[in-house]
Amino acid sequence: MKRLREFDYHEPTTLGDAVAILAASPHDAQILAGGTDLVVDMKIERLQPSTIVNLKAIPGLKGIGIVDGGLRIGALTNVTDIEASVLVCERHPALSTASSILASPPIRAMATIGGNVGRASPASDLGPALIVSGATATIVGAAGTRDELVEDLYSGPGATTLASSDIITSFFLPDPPAGFGSAHVKIGKRGSGTDIALAGVSASLVLADDGTVAECKIALASLAPIPLRARTTETVLLGRAPTDDVLAEVASAAAEEATPIGDMRASAEYRTTLARVLTRRALAEALSAARGEAAA
Ligand SMILES: Cc1cc2nc3c(=O)[nH]c(=O)nc-3n(C[C@H](O)[C@H](O)[C@H](O)COP(=O)(O)OP(=O)(O)OC[C@H]3O[C@@H](n4cnc5c(N)ncnc54)[C@H](O)[C@@H]3O)c2cc1C
Repeated sequence: MKRLREFDYHEPTTLGDAVAILAASPHDAQILAGGTDLVVDMKIERLQPSTIVNLKAIPGLKGIGIVDGGLRIGALTNVTDIEASVLVCERHPALSTASSILASPPIRAMATIGGNVGRASPASDLGPALIVSGATATIVGAAGTRDELVEDLYSGPGATTLASSDIITSFFLPDPPAGFGSAHVKIGKRGSGTDIALAGVSASLVLADDGTVAECKIALASLAPIPLRARTTETVLLGRAPTDDVLAEVASAAAEEATPIGDMRASAEYRTTLARVLTRRALAEALSAARGEAAA
């Protein structure tokens, strides 16, 4: 078996120490959360960090709770815990579903929400779901603490806007207003629904009293270099009644806004078709949730 390159290993017990170690380390330092991405990336030599900082001994980075105005999810919270959370299921169906179809149960038990965003895979399930939930990330680094919208954290395939000493400590998901519904759908290679997305779409919307769409967010997975908020597509739906014809128009707009690559898993043409099909499906499910209809 191939040996990993040697690295310095740290297990700080405070956030301050973790930030200080990262700030004093070379820029190739990596955070270890669940390790489901990092260890694979090291084995295939995509990453060869000289320093690893394990966050697991730092208290307070794990858990899901109600805070003023919304839900806070600690960055070290496992995907399994998000999948099982009634709070998440009731308020943010897109994130709940995305968690339930991310990889297999053993991976979900180790994988964390912070690691999913930190890895910044264009195929991420949680990224699009967080984006349509209006989530912000709290980030602690050498420059202090700040909050940023998750949608602004992605800068390219596998790349974020985070500085090398930055640690995501938690995510805040604002309470959804009345008339809110959200959904996440994806297609994987084996059709099992639990493998990496050939394409995926998260959608959320808020229905006004007159039945028109007052707010709408759509985010794409494996259809752009980053988990992408499809803002142009959203404008096609805003202010209109979500009839079948309108949803078809929105789905076509998503296929236009998507910029998928073709690779060994799917052609760009197939992914463009999936953008149309999955956008329509995600919006239909989000509408059902907004109307309080039981899932099929
Ligand atoms: C077989 C397999 C199948 C998979 N299927 C899917 C899938 O269907 N959908 C999907 O979305 N993902 C999938 N993944 C990817 C992976 O499981 C997720 O991205 C997972 O959520 C990563 O979390 P982690 O805690 O394991 O991250 P780690 O591997 O520990 O870290 C990943 C990266 O994020 C950074 N990081 C970790 N925590 C933080 C933090 N708090 N702040 C800042 N940066 C941080 C690390 O430095 C590292 O670069 C799959 C992985 C495998 C191995």
